[in-house]
Amino acid sequence: QALQIAIDGPAGAGKSTIAKIAAKQLGLFYVDTGAMYRVIAYKVLKNRAPIDDESMVSQIAKSTVVVFDHSDKRIVWCDGEDVTQEIRCPEVSRAVSVVAAYPGVRERLVELQRMEAERGGVVMDGRDIGTYVLPEADIKFFLTATPEERARRRWMELQKAGKDVTYQEVAIDMAERDRLDTEREVSPLKPAKDAIILDTTGLSIEELVSKILALVQG
Ligand code: C5P
Repeated sequence: QALQIAIDGPAGAGKSTIAKIAAKQLGLFYVDTGAMYRVIAYKVLKNRAPIDDESMVSQIAKSTVVVFDHSDKRIVWCDGEDVTQEIRCPEVSRAVSVVAAYPGVRERLVELQRMEAERGGVVMDGRDIGTYVLPEADIKFFLTATPEERARRRWMELQKAGKDVTYQEVAIDMAERDRLDTEREVSPLKPAKDAIILDTTGLSIEELVSKILALVQG
């Protein structure tokens, strides 16, 4: 079986930054599972579907074609529409954890995620990769950082992208998302029993990447 690396943890812990670099260095695919949940949330909002209607949202998840571009551009398509930018907006960030708590949505996306892992070696990041999506992964990481640091990182990213949001807004949205992700019934956010837990507070990207690569290659 090709190499499988699982990276889980709450928002802003550094998962996607690290996963992208590690995948490139190791010659593996990077699969951003959060982007898949974001595509479904985007489509629910776009269709003005009632987000509390679990069966309608699950139906949307089943009929949506989610496609990823594995080149450096990392374009994400929703039914043929480029939604790479749109899925990062605050409205989607606020809706995504509601959508992600529905078993019908998860069933469909986990199927897609496992198909991605069939294509070859992967670094996959998310919330339930080590616990549920790839339980046999070769190595599992669970990244954490203090809530303040995680909110600060996400706020800086949004600032860089020219988004007009305050630190406070980011911190509040993030805390709510973490609460929903941790408290939901299906595949809640938690470390796998065999995960290596890394606190990334105060670590630079370079330090974290070299730590992870050393553990993978060790
Ligand atoms: O990783 P990102 O912050 O983009 O994920 C967005 C949301 O998607 C998470 O807050 C969570 O609700 C959901 N998610 C999930 N399971 C995953 C990945 C993401 O429930 N494996």
